[in-house]
Amino acid sequence: MRYLFDVNRFVDERALSVSIKNKGLNYGLGCFEGIRGFWNEEQQQLFVFRLEDHLKRFHQSGKSLFIPIPYSVPDLTQIIRRLLVLNQEMADVYIRPVCFKGSDTLRPNLSDPYNHLGIFTTVLDYKPKEALKTCISSWTRMGSNMIPPQVKPTGGYLNSALAINEAELNGFDEAIFLTKEGNISEGATENIFIVRDNQVLTPPVSDDILPGITRDTVCTILKNEFGIIVQEKSFTRVEVYEADEVFFTGTAIGIKPVIEVDRRVIRNGRVGSLTKQIQGIYDQIVRGKMKEYLDYSFPVY
Ligand code: PMP
Repeated sequence: MRYLFDVNRFVDERALSVSIKNKGLNYGLGCFEGIRGFWNEEQQQLFVFRLEDHLKRFHQSGKSLFIPIPYSVPDLTQIIRRLLVLNQEMADVYIRPVCFKGSDTLRPNLSDPYNHLGIFTTVLDYKPKEALKTCISSWTRMGSNMIPPQVKPTGGYLNSALAINEAELNGFDEAIFLTKEGNISEGATENIFIVRDNQVLTPPVSDDILPGITRDTVCTILKNEFGIIVQEKSFTRVEVYEADEVFFTGTAIGIKPVIEVDRRVIRNGRVGSLTKQIQGIYDQIVRGKMKEYLDYSFPVY
């Protein structure tokens, strides 16, 4: 049996039901997090990566969207630990806390006080390729004054889903969004970096991105391990076409090379050397194998 946490208790995940009338479901009035635990085979330990940072961002989402999270960060930490232990997770695991408006009333408002929290754990069901062929989406990234992309609103993922759908229908692996001003924003569910002449650029938060935790980790790796300060700077699609290396970052996807954008091959179509090195270091860090970064790892067992 697999458990999940529902409102205030651990239950068999098959027993859960949410009303078809639920307002969160009907209007996308919720927020969530995507967190990962990584199994360290040698130490027989499960480490959750940057758990506190994810839970803080969950609270920020709740604050911006008027969907306050009914448990504190320390309480959520303990609930997640308990859930992982109950489910005897001993492999890489994905952890999804979600909080949504729990009432059944028709008006799409955010003022009703019942916010329904759920947390489930699962294996990642999406295995992307080693290197991705992408396109610039015809869908614009939603702006901060529409649905804030700086947090994780459930309803905001319709924007991502439309872009993914279009990309897949056209034979690409993933989509890249532009902002309404025409700058590069981010992938459908990941941040983007480009490498040009030994400089590394990533769009600033004002270009309608989610300030990703993997993005922040990559900036730290580049600073500590390579002495490279990432420039948070707007750039255009042409600068992506002309880049030496392009890669995505995200909790689910990790560090993922992009080898084609709009049918323009990035340099020679092979994974770039900096991207490869960052991938290698990131994989060690998330499994708690680099002692300098152990602060990032929350040990479950
Ligand atoms: N942008 C979007 C839209 C996302 O959904 C994600 C995944 N959470 C990211 C960027 C990457 O963020 P993180 O590294 O925190 O997973």
